[in-house]
Amino acid sequence: MTHLFAPNASPSSAAAHVEALLASYPDFPQPNILFRDLNPVFADAVAFRAIVDDLADQHRGQFDAVAGIEARGFLLAAAVGYAANAAVLAVRKGGKLPGTVLIEEYDLEYGSARLELEVGQLPAGTRVLILDDVLATGGTIAATSRLIERAGYTLTGVGVVLELIDLHGRERLGTAPVHAIMSI
Ligand code: AMP
Repeated sequence: MTHLFAPNASPSSAAAHVEALLASYPDFPQPNILFRDLNPVFADAVAFRAIVDDLADQHRGQFDAVAGIEARGFLLAAAVGYAANAAVLAVRKGGKLPGTVLIEEYDLEYGSARLELEVGQLPAGTRVLILDDVLATGGTIAATSRLIERAGYTLTGVGVVLELIDLHGRERLGTAPVHAIMSI
């Protein structure tokens, strides 16, 4: 397997940890999907600290809140929010949030999915960094971007641990800078 690092970025120690620990499972959860499992990265204390610091550092000074996408994005958002002294927003799968929620439906490879965000948690104009584990086709982060903007916040960045470059997800995202610790 060939591993490529993000263009214009020298392999950081965070990327080295991801490359060393990333696990890949062919045909999971369905045929023809090569599932990239980052749990071994989260399960290594040194690696986890390195990826959290990297995500916080890449966007330092550019966000007041982090939005984590259920469920693995929550792990990153809580840690980066704490490290950067930022607020944390939970972007949840459909039907789990009370009160007034914004809803975005989007297509997956098979079927569709729904993400939701509670309104009025932070002042309009709050600068938000979206975090998730993997950028694949980009549909999930694109839907989250729409939620952030509909809520009145300003999207100032996207951070992921791993980008699957063959799926061109980055092209579906807007103009906010996208940082991937490792691209493959
Ligand atoms: P996307 O296609 O970018 O909308 O990805 C949808 C969600 O599924 C993301 O939150 C990813 O974490 C996850 N995902 C998609 N493809 C993979 C993959 N090959 N391995 C692991 N997670 C994936």
